[in-house]
Amino acid sequence: MTEVQLQEFKLDPDSELRFEVESKNEKVVLEVKSGYAELFGTELVKGKPYEFHTGAKVAVFTWHGCTVELRGKTEVSYVAKETPMVVYLNVHAALEQQRVAAEQENTRGPVTMVVGPGDVGKSTLTKLLLNYAVRMGRRPIYVDLDVGQGQISVPGTIGALLVERPASIEEGFSQQAPLVYHFGHSSPSENLELYNTIVARLAEVIAERCENNKKASTSGVIINTCGWIKNAGYKVLTYAAQAFEVDVILVLDNERLYNELKRDMPKFVKVVYLPKSGGVVERSSAQRTEVRDARIREYFYGKRTPYYPHSFDVKFSDLKIYKVGAPSLPDSCMPLGMRAEDALTKLVNVWPSPALHHRLLAVSFANGPEDDVLHSNLAGFVCVTAVDMDRQMLTILSPQPRPLPNTVLLLSELQYMDNH
Ligand code: ADP
Repeated sequence: MTEVQLQEFKLDPDSELRFEVESKNEKVVLEVKSGYAELFGTELVKGKPYEFHTGAKVAVFTWHGCTVELRGKTEVSYVAKETPMVVYLNVHAALEQQRVAAEQENTRGPVTMVVGPGDVGKSTLTKLLLNYAVRMGRRPIYVDLDVGQGQISVPGTIGALLVERPASIEEGFSQQAPLVYHFGHSSPSENLELYNTIVARLAEVIAERCENNKKASTSGVIINTCGWIKNAGYKVLTYAAQAFEVDVILVLDNERLYNELKRDMPKFVKVVYLPKSGGVVERSSAQRTEVRDARIREYFYGKRTPYYPHSFDVKFSDLKIYKVGAPSLPDSCMPLGMRAEDALTKLVNVWPSPALHHRLLAVSFANGPEDDVLHSNLAGFVCVTAVDMDRQMLTILSPQPRPLPNTVLLLSELQYMDNH
């Protein structure tokens, strides 16, 4: 059911207004009329209109009370007085104490990992803690290991960013010089060996960077993870915890996971159980696919600020495309000294074919296949919008004008239909 076009809400201290923009091509404008409010940790400016589009699920929280106006059709909109924000603020305060100690003792700040099943607010809590840290003058590192959402680059990647200012309400965290590694699938289960390899690499590069950036080092790291927490998914989480040498694990809404981690983590790792917010909205798998798609569209076309990508043809003969992972053979068929799993991180040549249509290709900073490709940061992505077998040409959508840099391209399983 859709509600009226103009709504005003008076929020008491410690409460939040939740709303969703669901209908196709709808837009809702939010404005704080009086008092103070924040959105997942970013302060809202009084009197400034903020736009939200189809699919947005939003909570405007106030510590001190405020009046808020919504213009446009919302699917739902209500004020909730029960929120876990005080608990989350306490977590922030505890992390802040560790940062102060790190500064005084010239050690590393807290490395925190947020875990839990899907749709419990992991990404939201990560954002909140980063925003609170940066508002205190810290420069934390944001790590996203969730290949299903790929918030730092596109889905199918993991990445990291140095956060220097709070997330913009409409555009998220500023994307300057992110570290991005290619995975190529939307779930770690597709290639555990590769996933663990790039997680370890990202952890290593961040540790190196922290050695040269004291401010980032004392501010610490906040890591968002996938919602896959059972069996092999659990192993992936514990592997990441080890690789990043985490100090704190925040477990959202899953007692079993909390108890398993308490049992398996070394004693110096603080495992903390946190309630999820009643406002977090569950998403169907169709909605998840839509969010992934929207994320890729944003990558090429921008969000609030539009980008103008380029489209051009490239000869097959000018391309070096690889995929990661050869079919795995039993150990008995492997050459001496190689494990069957090694095949999963091997580069395999891909010849252009109609199968490439709509696929994303990661543009690697590696110069050639002999370079350490899996360990190389990505320059960005292009999307194959047409394959012409007669002319032996691919048409490519690219954020950068031609030519395509003469480097290794890595094939992703993720697809994007460019009908812009
Ligand atoms: P996860 O990372 O665990 O999958 P998210 O943090 O992405 O979960 O949250 C799922 C959805 O719920 C997102 O669209 C987010 O904007 C929304 N959401 C989170 N917290 C709230 C809240 N308190 N009120 C309304 N919506 C919320």
